[in-house]
Amino acid sequence: MRASMATRDFQGKTHRRLRTRLLEWYDRNRRELPWRRTSDPYAIWLSEVMLQQTQVATVIPYWERFLQRYPSVEALAEAPLPDVLAAWKGLGYYSRARNLHRAAQEVVARFGGKLPSTAAELLTLPGFGRYTAGAVASIAFGEPAPLVDGNVARVLSRLFEVEGLPGERAREARLWALAGELVQGKRPGDFNQSLMEHGATVCRPESPLCLLCPVREECLAFRHGRVDELPPAKVRAPPRKMTLAVAVWAHEGRLLLARRAEKGLFGGLWELPAAEVEADTSDVEATSHLARALGVELSLGGPLGTVRRQLTHRALTLRLLRVEGRVYPTHAPSFQELRWCSPEEASALGMSTAMNKALEAAVAAGALLK
Ligand code: SF4
Repeated sequence: MRASMATRDFQGKTHRRLRTRLLEWYDRNRRELPWRRTSDPYAIWLSEVMLQQTQVATVIPYWERFLQRYPSVEALAEAPLPDVLAAWKGLGYYSRARNLHRAAQEVVARFGGKLPSTAAELLTLPGFGRYTAGAVASIAFGEPAPLVDGNVARVLSRLFEVEGLPGERAREARLWALAGELVQGKRPGDFNQSLMEHGATVCRPESPLCLLCPVREECLAFRHGRVDELPPAKVRAPPRKMTLAVAVWAHEGRLLLARRAEKGLFGGLWELPAAEVEADTSDVEATSHLARALGVELSLGGPLGTVRRQLTHRALTLRLLRVEGRVYPTHAPSFQELRWCSPEEASALGMSTAMNKALEAAVAAGALLK
């Protein structure tokens, strides 16, 4: 009994020392980022969503433009989804924008336009997982709510010698428990940011700067010479190969564009109409797939080239096929909307980077020339 109290006391002291050192380090070394100059919960939420899977330097101009266009939760909730997706264009992972939009609508409907202030309530909104809920609750509202992202997981697994592969349940539970213990105290939002900042700039995945580290004395991995071992590298499944036949259909200087169904890859985005095919599907057969998707008869004009694009989980091959038909559809069974657009009009629509490249390649290959 006495031994366990002594252990708890020791842990408490270590945690307090870690907290103090990390916060002092953060106060001296933090990067000046635009979302650190605001206390607007909506702006902080937006930054957290954009920063998932996107680098800080890329996010800054997007965050500023997006806030100019949609300066409040209400403004975002009222905007049509395709416009929101167009404003997201280039950031990728569009499900983030769809969830952001849906969550803004729920915040207006359920919370009178004010973002709820606790992680538990935030978790009831679309797109909020434990990380985002913890980040917004702690940074915007000062709740001592923990968060664990890739940076925090790495720092904690080194500091406390947490074993196990990324994604393993026991490891994740231990990391969240540690983050939960450490965040208790003053300035929980700054503390969470200090952990993330430390992981991003000092306790980096490769060549961590241990000699400059403010918590080196407390770090078990450093003490035991295991910094290079922790955390072990994640074993990634190879990206799935996916081939899309892409219809390049020109009519009077315009191209046919289609908006995809809301669910699935590139859901809700615009594209040159595409249909998934096998890698060895012939051009004629691929044209039949496209005809079925568009609900019209099509004839094949010929191939216009191939665009390849590597996504995190998919290796995409886009096969551009010049096609023609006798009737010019304005709606189709497999798509939410169809539009005939000039290339300039098309490039202003919310479109994935892969499809933008396909559009550029099609135009460069003479899609609009007879
Ligand atoms: Fe990370 Fe090195 Fe600091 Fe340990 S000593 S927390 S491994 S930077």
